[in-house]
Amino acid sequence: MPHTQTARLMDGTGLARKILDHSAAMATAITRQTGTPPCLATVLVGDDPASATYVRMKRARCEKAGIASRHLHLPATTTTAELVDAITSLSEDPEVHGILLQHPVGAHIDERAAFEAIAPHKDVDGVTMRSFAAMSFGLPGFVSCTPGGIMRLLDHYDVELAGKRAVVVGRSAILGKPAGMLLLARDATVTYCHSRTRDLESIVREADVLVAAVGRPGFIRGEDIKVGAVVIDAGYSPGNLGDVDFDGAVTRARLITPVPGGVGPMTIAMLLSQTADAAALQSGLAPAELVPPSSPE
Ligand code: NAP
Repeated sequence: MPHTQTARLMDGTGLARKILDHSAAMATAITRQTGTPPCLATVLVGDDPASATYVRMKRARCEKAGIASRHLHLPATTTTAELVDAITSLSEDPEVHGILLQHPVGAHIDERAAFEAIAPHKDVDGVTMRSFAAMSFGLPGFVSCTPGGIMRLLDHYDVELAGKRAVVVGRSAILGKPAGMLLLARDATVTYCHSRTRDLESIVREADVLVAAVGRPGFIRGEDIKVGAVVIDAGYSPGNLGDVDFDGAVTRARLITPVPGGVGPMTIAMLLSQTADAAALQSGLAPAELVPPSSPE
């Protein structure tokens, strides 16, 4: 029997705006109490236009929220040692509260070594091994921004996770893997799928909560979405294309993120939110007490 149900859209743009407003209020409070605004250092290696655009967007959002940014643009010929040195200096600089290394960096650079030069208390993008471990053990620390944003969306829409079958398609260090760990921490039963997974479609069909993080437009077929599932499409390919066949999925899912306007805006919102938190903590202030808890959800 055909399904004519239409899923409710999960509005990442709207929720991100609330989180950004909250981050701006935090920045104002921190600036008032310490005399200096929170500061995010962005590091860009080389001249990839897409990476340059992402960094510009992040800095513009910072400025709008009253968060200062310091930009370090290094040439494409930068070596691993030079990049590690530059990031180590930022880690040691008391005027910098958060560090973002725009990735991917050039293939000749050891990206992991560069990430690990970020001090854990400044890892507002949640990319270090320490942050991943803390997140996996449920200890204090910063989460990887896109998975963190996904969890905020799920919570905002009151999605029950305990005991639910969650399927994450993709296992990258910044997206798929941490998304699965965060779902596991909320008592979902998590299955990871990847390029070597056999019979991926039948696993997808069992998902109460599906996170698509592959980077292949329309990779998840609408007909494979379980009726009533919650579908998070984290994929983004040029032309505003997600990983999920939206038109097919929307008639079967209960909740679904649009592309654009779903997961994407949440990523920057999480970056700013964690930068404000980092600045508060480094100034000896308690983030939760700085701004009244009326927002963001
Ligand atoms: P990635 O590092 O390329 O990882 C892609 C993952 O997909 C890998 O784990 C890979 O498996 C898996 N995969 C590739 N082909 C597959 C196939 N045929 N069947 C099953 N799995 C397959 O990408 P990423 O950085 O995680 O990003 C994924 C997508 O999310 C991209 O579209 C990216 O643009 C988007 N993204 C969006 C945001 C945002 O803010 N909205 C942030 C980050 C990323 P293997 O591990 O086996 O190779």
